Amino acid sequence: MKKYLLFLIITFIVFGAQAQIDTIARSFSTTITAYDLKDNLTYIASPSTEGRETGTPGLVRAAEYIASKFGLIGIQQMGGTGTYYQSYKYIRSKSRDVTLFDSLQRYEYLKDFYVQADVRNGLVYKKQVVFMGYGIDAPGFNDYANDTNLTDKIVVLFNDEPYHKGKSLITGNISHSDWYHNTTLKLNRISKYKPAAVIFIDDAFYGKSNEIKRNLVNDATPMLVQSIYEVSFPILYTNLTVASKLLGTDSMKLSRIAKKTTKKHKPIHFASKNRFSIELDRISSVPTSDNVIGYVEGSDLKDEFVVISAHYDHLGMHKGKIYYGADDDGSGTAALIEIAEAFAIAKSAGNGPRRSILFCAFSGEEKGLLGSNFYVSNPRVPLEKTVLDLNIDMIGRVDSTYSALQNPNYVYPIGSTKHSSELKQLLEKCNDDYTKLKLDFKFDVEDKNKFYSRSDHYNFAKNGVPVIFFFTGLHADYHKSTDTIEKINFEKMETIARLVFQVAWKTANQTERLKLDIK
Ligand SMILES: [Zn+2]
Repeated sequence: MKKYLLFLIITFIVFGAQAQIDTIARSFSTTITAYDLKDNLTYIASPSTEGRETGTPGLVRAAEYIASKFGLIGIQQMGGTGTYYQSYKYIRSKSRDVTLFDSLQRYEYLKDFYVQADVRNGLVYKKQVVFMGYGIDAPGFNDYANDTNLTDKIVVLFNDEPYHKGKSLITGNISHSDWYHNTTLKLNRISKYKPAAVIFIDDAFYGKSNEIKRNLVNDATPMLVQSIYEVSFPILYTNLTVASKLLGTDSMKLSRIAKKTTKKHKPIHFASKNRFSIELDRISSVPTSDNVIGYVEGSDLKDEFVVISAHYDHLGMHKGKIYYGADDDGSGTAALIEIAEAFAIAKSAGNGPRRSILFCAFSGEEKGLLGSNFYVSNPRVPLEKTVLDLNIDMIGRVDSTYSALQNPNYVYPIGSTKHSSELKQLLEKCNDDYTKLKLDFKFDVEDKNKFYSRSDHYNFAKNGVPVIFFFTGLHADYHKSTDTIEKINFEKMETIARLVFQVAWKTANQTERLKLDIK
């Protein structure tokens, strides 16, 4: 009998305390309201921010708005910085003349090939084209093992790595090796031979070319200054079809090499009889942009951080039209501010989180995830201490699938199954307990749209930090001047922002940090 009583008391203490914490979480999440979200977005997606293109005064005004909001609601600046801004430099360039040609044909810049912003100017005249496989030098797979004559040649190679039945031949499993899309590593290896130029066959360029092309709207893809290649020759990117023509082979042959590898696949190289010329004449500039970053300090576990992120940049103005980006990603930015406020209120009421919460408004996302890329290589808190990134990008609209179902109350969580088996359960529990949205996992990690690699969380995920990307899908106004505020569903945004708050709250307050149990 006594034992039973003790059991009851313990049960009450344990579950009673848990219920109390849950009630607290619910009460602070209700400070996130449709009204306040609209208030934030009314400025962020207004004519005065001129579409928030990275590198423009409109973006600076949006940054000032976020920073002043952070100040008002009591978000702290990172120790010793004295500012919410994290500045970074990137390189941008415009072409005067960029051509790839031989006596018979001329390839079209942006359609047939592209270059990055730091490309070296110059003329490469009538140089022989050679195929160099994957350009990999790894144990068991060495493209450079046999007489490698690359000097003064135009070297064509794949930028990924060889696979057999979904497994990398380099790692022997489904994980990518260090060579996968690592152009820096490949260029460093090749530059010893002093080639005339290097042309990467970029699967992204033919696979999901729109993604690359939207980064090329204003010419070459901008790059962070820290990522500039230390080489003296031109670097181009092209697709399989153009690469085959340059090499004078049929594209089937190249694609067989690329896709139909066997377990014992050996490096394949060949020299073509073709000679091509490349002319590059570009003007470059090195502008600065800012991420806006602040935090709410935790209590007993304050050295560990939960990151909440959203990008505040968009596409700017084109042909006199403002691209408002109310959904992309005004919605995420407005939500970020509201979630930050909810945590700040919780803390000032004496119920702050155990772990610290870092709020990151990134710029440069539309230019190729520049701001978050800079952040992960210059993190304000060590990435090993970063337990989770919850990234919010486009949560204000209802896509055609759910319009047809007449159900606006859904979200596509992406990435939760990648690093930690606990995370998806935690997300589902928060949603069951509070927000009761339809969680639709159809765009999770393995999806042909590759949404998983298309927003800032990807830079965290690549560095082993668990992520969830909150997204409500594409719509007819995506990346158009018609992505405007009056089309935003603020009730829906409120519910999703509250869900993000709950997931952050739970992750920040549980005793054990999320386990990284998925390899
Ligand atoms: Zn976006």
